[in-house]
Amino acid sequence: MLHSPHQPLQVAAVPSQRTPVREDQAGPWHSEAVCRRDEAGLFFAPSKEPTAARLSREESAKQVCARCPVMVECREHALVQPEPYGVWGGLTAAERRVVLARRRRRDMELKAAAPAERIAAAG
Ligand code: SF4
Repeated sequence: MLHSPHQPLQVAAVPSQRTPVREDQAGPWHSEAVCRRDEAGLFFAPSKEPTAARLSREESAKQVCARCPVMVECREHALVQPEPYGVWGGLTAAERRVVLARRRRRDMELKAAAPAERIAAAG
């Protein structure tokens, strides 16, 4: 598992506070993460969080992400892992699932189109 500026992936419960990042888990972008100390607990849901509170918290987290210099790297990390919880790179877990589904669909379309394109190029 790569690092998270938030929380190790293997933790089943999702605490609202970040834990220190182990160096062997850290990528080069993590040292610039604006959220390294999530003292407000913005990035992960506490247990039994009401929907309105979750939406508000996630919006606040996204505002932090919007001014983070490593947002693109963080988002890609969360998509590639994939990180199942929390806000990463300005996306919630649900939003990341949508992005991943789109990527899978696009990849399948490209694979399906590839033989026809090879035949057209050869002919
Ligand atoms: S983009 Fe957001 S979640 Fe990612 S490192 Fe920056 S502040 Fe943290």
